[in-house]
Amino acid sequence: MTSPAATHRDVFGSPPEGVWSAPGRVNLIGEHTDYNDGLALPIALPQRTHAAVSVRDDDRLRVHSVQLGQTVEVSLGSVGPGSPSGWTAYVAGVLWALREDGLPVRGMDVTVDSDVPVGAGLSSSAALECAVGAAASDLFGLDLLGSDDARARLARACVRAENEVAGAATGGMDQSAALLCHEGSALLLDCRSGATEQVPFDLTAAGMVLLVTDTRASHALNDGQYEERRRACEAAAAELGVGSLREVSSGGLEHALARLSSDELRTRTRHVVTEIARVEATVAALRGGDLDEVGRLFRASHASLRDDYEVSCEELDVSVEAAEGAGALGARMTGGGFGGSSIALLPEGSAGDAEDAVRAAFAARGWTEPACFTVTASGPAGRDA
Ligand code: ADP
Ligand code: MG
Repeated sequence: MTSPAATHRDVFGSPPEGVWSAPGRVNLIGEHTDYNDGLALPIALPQRTHAAVSVRDDDRLRVHSVQLGQTVEVSLGSVGPGSPSGWTAYVAGVLWALREDGLPVRGMDVTVDSDVPVGAGLSSSAALECAVGAAASDLFGLDLLGSDDARARLARACVRAENEVAGAATGGMDQSAALLCHEGSALLLDCRSGATEQVPFDLTAAGMVLLVTDTRASHALNDGQYEERRRACEAAAAELGVGSLREVSSGGLEHALARLSSDELRTRTRHVVTEIARVEATVAALRGGDLDEVGRLFRASHASLRDDYEVSCEELDVSVEAAEGAGALGARMTGGGFGGSSIALLPEGSAGDAEDAVRAAFAARGWTEPACFTVTASGPAGRDA
C-alpha cells in the first residue's frame, strides 16, 4: 500500500507536514443507551483512518480520499449546517466546529486513507473526524490532545461536525472512543456526567479473542427507526416523570413498567434499563476476570436488542447464532442495528471455526459474503510515528 504521505505528494504536489490517525471502534456492550444518559463500553479498533495534512495560508480546504478516489475543494467560509454535502462534511465540519469554538483554524490540504470498513457500524465517520481534528490540533497549536479534558473538547467539536454539518443525529460515543480509548482497555463512558474510566480489556492473557463480523447488510438505516426509538424513550421518561431513563433503577423497573401506558414503551424501557445494568455487570466481570459472565451478558444484550428494542435483523441474528454454535461464550449485534456488525467472544482456538460457520450460514442463504476479523483494544487518535 502506498503511504498516505506519498499519495499526498502525488495529489497536492508537496509532502505533508505530518500524518495523524484515529481508530474505528466497536462497542462491547451498552447499545442505544447514549441518548438515555446511560453507559457504553467501546474499545478502539486496530483499524485506523490516516490523514496526511499540510496547512495553507488561505481558507481553502482540499481533501482527497484514497477510498473514494476523489479530490474535493471547499472554502471554509461556506461551511455550516448542512453544507458541504457528502463525505467532505466530516472533514470540513471539524474545522468549522473548531472555529465555532473560538479556535484559530485555517485551510488545509488533507489526504485521507483508511482501513476502517466504511458504513459497517465501526465508526469510520468518527475516525475520519478525529484524525482531522488531531492534525488541526497539532498544526494550529490548539493543544487538544494533551489531556483527557482537552481530548473531550475535541470530541465535542467532532460530534458537532457530524450532527450539524453532516446532519447525522448520533450520540457522542464514537468520538469519545476514538479520542479517549487506551490500548488494552475498554472505555466506560457515562453519557450523563461525561465521565470516563479505563477498564482492562486484554483477552490474549485469557486465551480468548473478539471476532468482529461485518455483515455487509444495511437496511436503509432507517433514520426513521432511530428517531422512533429516541421518541419512545423520551415519552417513557415523561410518563415516569424523570429526565431520562437512566433515572430508572433496575430495582424499580417492574414498578416503572406497570406505570407505562403501552407495550411499546414498556419493551423499549426494559431494554434501556437492563442494558445499562449489563454494562455495569460487564465492567465488574472484566475486572474480576470472569469472561463466562461477559459472554452471558453479551447473549442477554443481543436478546434484548432483538426482542425488546427490535433493532436487530436476520443477518445480525444469524451471525450471532453461528458464532455461538461454534463455541462463542457469547455474541451480540453492536452499533445501532438494522445491519452493520456483530461481535463474538471466543476461545482463541475456536475463532477459525466460528468464522467458517458464519460464512457458511451466509452462503447458505445467498447473502453477500461477510467480513470477519479478530480485534484487540487499540490506542487513540494522535500523530503517527
Ligand atoms: P460508519 O461510521 O459506521 O462507518 P457512517 O455512515 O456514520 O458509518 O459514516 C460513513 C461515512 O463517512 C461515509 O459514507 C463517508 O461519507 C464518510 N467516510 C468514512 N471514511 C471515509 C473515507 N476513508 N473516505 C471518505 N469518506 C469517508
Ligand atoms: Mg458513523
